[in-house]
Amino acid sequence: MPIVVAASIGVVYCDSHDYQNSDHLVNDADLAMYAAKRQGKSRYCFFTSALRDAVDVENAIRSHITSGIHQQQFVLHYQPIINSRDGKIRSFEALARWQHPERGLLLPGDFVPVAEATGLIVPLGHQIVETACQQLAEWDRALGDAARDLNINVNFSPIQILEPRFVDSICSVVEKYGISPSRVCIEITESLLVCNPEKAIQTLRQIKKLGFQLHLDDFGTGYSSLNYLDELPVDVLKIDRSFVQKLENEHNENAVVRMIVAMADALDVEVVAEGVENEIQIETLKSMNCVLFQGYHFSKPMPADRVSRFICDYQAFNQGLEKPMLGKLTGRD
Ligand code: C2E
Ligand code: CA
Ligand code: CA
Repeated sequence: MPIVVAASIGVVYCDSHDYQNSDHLVNDADLAMYAAKRQGKSRYCFFTSALRDAVDVENAIRSHITSGIHQQQFVLHYQPIINSRDGKIRSFEALARWQHPERGLLLPGDFVPVAEATGLIVPLGHQIVETACQQLAEWDRALGDAARDLNINVNFSPIQILEPRFVDSICSVVEKYGISPSRVCIEITESLLVCNPEKAIQTLRQIKKLGFQLHLDDFGTGYSSLNYLDELPVDVLKIDRSFVQKLENEHNENAVVRMIVAMADALDVEVVAEGVENEIQIETLKSMNCVLFQGYHFSKPMPADRVSRFICDYQAFNQGLEKPMLGKLTGRD
């Protein structure tokens, strides 16, 4: 079998006065080499000062995230997932926010990619799942029966799932707060299967065996899912918002959602429609036998201290109604 050897090369142009120390020269060549790898490997890349600036910026963000974790600046907002059949709240999805001391409340798009790139998503993710489980235990205590059937959904990056201590770490959290693993829905995306499918599937099976739920997020946007779907022990497919938003348009735009719902039915898994914003989408989804909804129509993600009132208001609203109302209850958001 022929062996093909390829190389990524970093090049530094300099004259004898530019560097006082050969280590610094090699460091800059290294930065250029990593840039060549990022650009697709088997190529060369010249060093520029912009490469060093980017590393400085990343280092600064890394140290800010680290201190943010230590100072508990990361908080969770919660968005309900509604069962349209019985009108009950099935779960709350925990969505991370960074209460940044200077920049205010930051959304995950501002920090999750850097946290992933630096590996800090592992300690941050641990803090997030711990906060979410602690919160669920608190709702149990405060609301009693009203919270009994509630679950919590937590988002996990592929790096977290593939981290060797992942299973132990999540087990220790549910144990600490006395939460049944069946109430914890681990949201993963198809990108997990691109990195290391064998290890991912093995870990997910282990997690499933321990009783946790597995929800496949942003379903339909990736490209590996159909290959692996029958091997994955998933409980729920979450139809990506981009498909749900198209439901308002032409009828044939609905084909993808219809197909996902039919496939989920055949695989005996549930479906959550994400990003539901209006009645037309709800009616269209219901006509396709989609039962679980999440989106701004019901509520935007809200801070923990508003959730108890939301639960009570929602239940009071639906009590005694033959047909559950799925209307907005969130004027106070
Ligand atoms: P996601 O898991 O798909 O979460 C849904 C996102 O859509 C949230 O954005 C939510 O606020 C937004 N959304 C929900 N309903 C609607 C709607 O009806 N219309 C519109 N336009 N948007 C809606 P958010 O909070 O900015 O989160 C973005 C992404 O960041 C999440 O997407 C998730 O992938 C990631 N993320 C959030 N929290 C965490 C976390 O704790 N860990 C990790 N690893 N990723 C997280
Ligand atoms: Ca999610
Ligand atoms: Ca999603």
